[in-house]
Amino acid sequence: MKWSFRIARIAGIDVKIHVTFFLLLLWVGYSYWITAKTIPAVLNGILFVLFLFLFVLMHEFGHSLTARKFGIKTRDITLLPIGGVSQLERIPREPKQEFWVTLAGPAVNLVLAILLFGWLVLTEGFISLSQLSLTEGSLIERLAIVNLVLLVFNLIPAFPMDGGRVLRAALASRMDYVRATQIAEAFGKGFALIFGLIGLFTNPFYLLIALFVWVGAGQESRSVQVKETFSGIPVKNAMLTQFQTLSPTQRLSDAIEAILAGYQQDFPVMNGNEMVGVLTRKALLQSLARDGQTVNIASVMDRDFTTAKSDEMLDAVAERLQNCGCSTVPVFENDKIVGLVTMDNIGEYLMIQAALRRSSPETQALN
Ligand SMILES: [Zn+2]
Repeated sequence: MKWSFRIARIAGIDVKIHVTFFLLLLWVGYSYWITAKTIPAVLNGILFVLFLFLFVLMHEFGHSLTARKFGIKTRDITLLPIGGVSQLERIPREPKQEFWVTLAGPAVNLVLAILLFGWLVLTEGFISLSQLSLTEGSLIERLAIVNLVLLVFNLIPAFPMDGGRVLRAALASRMDYVRATQIAEAFGKGFALIFGLIGLFTNPFYLLIALFVWVGAGQESRSVQVKETFSGIPVKNAMLTQFQTLSPTQRLSDAIEAILAGYQQDFPVMNGNEMVGVLTRKALLQSLARDGQTVNIASVMDRDFTTAKSDEMLDAVAERLQNCGCSTVPVFENDKIVGLVTMDNIGEYLMIQAALRRSSPETQALN
C-alpha cells in the first residue's frame, strides 16, 4: 500500500503503518485536549488508541497465522485508521478454509475480551456502565469493551469484512463460488449504504468505512469473476500482438510519436532482445511537463516491471495485472517478447466472449 512504512516484523510478517494513522493520533490527542485540556487526558486518549490498534493487529495475526496453517503466506499487515488489512497471498478458495481463516480474527478479540473481563471480575474492578465513557473509567474495562465492539463490528455480514466472508463461505459451500460472491457483494454494498447514512448523521468515520466496504466488495467480486472467466485460457489467446517497443536511448519525442500513431499506452523498453523497462503514459506525461521532450527514455522508464509467459493461464496474469499497480504486462515466449496484456484488452476479450456466448450458447470459451 502506498504511503505506508514498516514498523516491525513479527513471525516473518511485515507490519506496516499507513501515514494517515498518525493523523488519527493527532486528531484523538486534539479532541481530548479540547474536552479535558490536560496533558494526562491527552496521553490517556492516545494510549487508548494505541491499545485499540494493538488489538486490531492481534486480530490480523489471527487471520494470518491461521492462513499459514493452510499454506497461505501473508505479504504484510497494514494498520490504517479504519482498521487493519492483512495482505494474504491469495484468498482461500476452499469455503472451509476461508471460514476458519476469517473467524480466527474475531476469535482473538473474543479471547481478549474474556481475559480482560475475567481480570476485572477477579480484581472487582468493575464500575457501572453508566459511569463509563470513551474518556472516563477504568482503562481495562474500556479495553475489554473495545474488544467486544471489534468482535461484533467485524461479524457484521458486510463483505469484504469478516462477517461477509463467513457469509460467502457459507453460501459457497452450497452454490457456485461466483454467485456466492455476488450475493455477499450485494450484502456488503447494502451495509455500505447504511454505514454511509450513519456517517452522514453521526460520526464521519463511518463514511470511510462505507467507502472501504463498497469499493472492496466490488473489487473482490470482480476479481473472482475475472478468475472464473479466465481460468484455463492461455495468455497468448488474449494478448495484444501488434505493439511497438522503444529503446532506452530513444528520446521522449519518439515515444510521443508512437503514442499518437496507435492506441498503445505503455511501451516495453528493449535493449536488443532484453527488456529493461516499461515506459508508461503517466511517467511520460509527467516527465514531459517537467523536463521537455529531449530526455532519454532510459531516465523516465520504470525499471520495476512484471512479465508473463505465453503459456501461462490468463487468470493468473490478470490477477498479477491487478496487483502490480501497473497497466501492462509484457508476454514472453522463449525469451522473446510476443505480446502485451492490458486491462483494456482483457475487457475487450470479455466482451467478445460474452457476445459469442449469446450467439451460440454452446460456446463456453474463446479458445
Ligand atoms: Zn478480520
